[in-house]
Amino acid sequence: AAMTVHYAICPAHPGAHLFHVTVTVEAPDPAGQLFMLPAWIPGSYMIREFARNIVRLTALDGDTPVRVEKLDKHTWRAAPVAGPLTLAYEVYAWDLSVRAAHLDKTHGFFNGTSVFLLPIGHEGAPCRVDLLPPEGKDYADWQVATGLAPARGTRRGSFGTYLAADYDELIDCPVEMGSFVTGRFDVLGVPHEIVITGSVPKLDMARLTADLARVCEVQMRLFAPRGRTPAARSRTGAAAPFERYTFLTMAVGDGYGGLEHRNSTALICKRDDLPHLGMTDSTVAYRTFLGLASHEYFHSWNVKRIRPAAFVPYDLTTENYTRLLWAFEGFTSYYDDLLLARAGLLSEAQYLDTLAGTLTTVMQRASRLKQSVADSSFDAWIKYYRQDENAPNSVVSYYQKGALVALALDLTIRAGTNHRLSLDDVMRHLWQQWVEAGDGYTGVDEDGILAAAEDVTGLSLARVLREWTEGTRDPDFAKLLAPFGVAVEARPALDSPHFALLGVKFADGKLVNVFDGSPAQAAGLSGGDTLVALDDIRVTAGNLDKLLARYRPGDTVRVHAFRRDELQVFDVRLSTRPPSKFTLLADARAGKTAVAARRKWLGA
Ligand code: ZN
Repeated sequence: AAMTVHYAICPAHPGAHLFHVTVTVEAPDPAGQLFMLPAWIPGSYMIREFARNIVRLTALDGDTPVRVEKLDKHTWRAAPVAGPLTLAYEVYAWDLSVRAAHLDKTHGFFNGTSVFLLPIGHEGAPCRVDLLPPEGKDYADWQVATGLAPARGTRRGSFGTYLAADYDELIDCPVEMGSFVTGRFDVLGVPHEIVITGSVPKLDMARLTADLARVCEVQMRLFAPRGRTPAARSRTGAAAPFERYTFLTMAVGDGYGGLEHRNSTALICKRDDLPHLGMTDSTVAYRTFLGLASHEYFHSWNVKRIRPAAFVPYDLTTENYTRLLWAFEGFTSYYDDLLLARAGLLSEAQYLDTLAGTLTTVMQRASRLKQSVADSSFDAWIKYYRQDENAPNSVVSYYQKGALVALALDLTIRAGTNHRLSLDDVMRHLWQQWVEAGDGYTGVDEDGILAAAEDVTGLSLARVLREWTEGTRDPDFAKLLAPFGVAVEARPALDSPHFALLGVKFADGKLVNVFDGSPAQAAGLSGGDTLVALDDIRVTAGNLDKLLARYRPGDTVRVHAFRRDELQVFDVRLSTRPPSKFTLLADARAGKTAVAARRKWLGA
C-alpha cells in the first residue's frame, strides 16, 4: 500500500492573507523528490498558475534545511534525502472567488489546487490533512466545513485531522473556516448541509433548506428513479453518488459564481439573493440563487462523474481539450432551471420566461453565427474564459447555446418517441455507463453524447445534433415547441433604448460592448469609450436611456466620447431595426395532447 502523504495547513496570518502549509513525504524519491502545484482547477477551464501565490518555500530533512530548486513555473525538486522530507511554504490567499483561496480575519476558504503541493509519484497515496486553527481568542468560534472525511478523534465541523483517499479527492474538497451559519436537511436519507459565510441579516434558513431539499430530491430521483434496480443507483447503493453533501456559500454585496465538486460545491452570491424572514414571494434574485445551487448539484453527476474522456484523468499541468462542454455545461444549464420547475419552485410561466431570456441572449449575439458550441468548448481556455469587449460578437456561450441544444434535443426525442422517452433517459444511460464501469471508467468519447442519445432512443439524431453543435444553424424553436403547446413570439427589444437604438452595452459611463452590425459600430464607437455627451447634453452613468428616449429610429445623434484621453465625435444614425426579444407563451388554446406533453416535460 502507498504511504500516506501528510499535509498541515494553518491560517497563520489572517491579516496578511497567508496560510502556512507543510507537506511531508515519508519515502521521497531517492533521485530527488518532485512537487507540483496545479495550473488550473477542474470545472474552471483556464490556466491560472496558482503557483504564483506561493510566497516562500523551504525543504527540510527533519530539522535540517535541504536544497530545493524550481524546474518550471509550477514544479520543484528537493535534493535527495532518506526522508521523511517536508516542504514548508506560505500561500498568499486574497482571491474572493470560488476558484482559489481567500483569508482574512473574518474567514478562510481554500481549494486544494491553490494550497496543496502534489509529491509527484504519490498521486494515488492516501492523504491526511491537519486543519489547524488560527491563534488567538478572536478566532475561538471558528468552525470548519468541508467534504473531506474527519479522521477518528476529530469531530466533523471542528479543526483537526481529515482524510482523502488520494490527491484527486484532496483537491476536490474545498474547505471553509470561520464563524458561519449552517442549515441541515436530509434528502432520501442522505445528509445535506448549507454553510453560509458573510453577514445575512434575518436569513430564512428554514425556507432555504426546505427549497434546496426539493431540488436535490428531484435530481436524485432523476438519476435513481424509484423502482429501478440498485444497479441504477450509485456504487454505494445509496440514492446519491455521495454519502453527504455540503453547499459552501459565501454571501457578499455583489457577486455570483459556483464551482462543482464530488460531494460539495463552493458558491458565491449576493446576500439579497437569499431569502429573509417575512419574504414570502419567489423573487427573481432568489430563483437565481436556487438555479445556481441546482446547477452545481447537477454537476455531481454530469461532469464530476459522467465526464469527457479528455478529463480521465485530468492533466493539471496544462489545458485539457474537449469539444463537449456544450453537453457538460450546457445540459447542466438546461436542467438547472427545468428541475426547479419540476420541483415546484418555478411556475410554468416563470420557467418559460427564464428560457425565453436565454433564447433572447443567444439570438441577439452574432457570435452564434461565427463559432459552434463544439469549437467554443475546445477553445474555452483562451476564449470563453478570457472574454474581452468583442466576446458577444465572437464567442458563443456553451452554457446558454448548449442549454438551447439540450432543449432542442429533449423536445426532438420527446416528439420522436411519442413522448415515451426524453433527454432524462439519455442522462440515465450515461450515468449507468459510469455505474457499470466502476474504476475502469474511461469517460465519454467526443462522439459519445450522440451515441448515447441514439442508443437510448433509436432515433437518427446525427444530422440535427451535428448541425446544432458542430455547425451554427439555429434549431427551429417555434417548430420544436409547437407540439408542447408553447408559442414563440419575437418583438423588437425596445425596453433598453441604448441597446435597441445604439447597439451597445453601457455601464458606469462607458461602452462595455459594441455589437456587430450596430449603429454604434458603423459610426466607429468602441468598447472602452467613455461617453461624454449626446447632441451636446452631458451623458452620466444613469441618464443615457432618458436622453435617447426623445429620439426616433433613423434619427442621427452626435456623440462625444473619450477614447483613452482623446475626445472624439461620432455621428450615429439610430437603428431602425432593433434586435428581437423573445417570449415563450403556454398556448391557452393548445389541444389536450399538447398540454399533456408540456406537463410531462415540465412536470407541472
Ligand atoms: Zn457548470
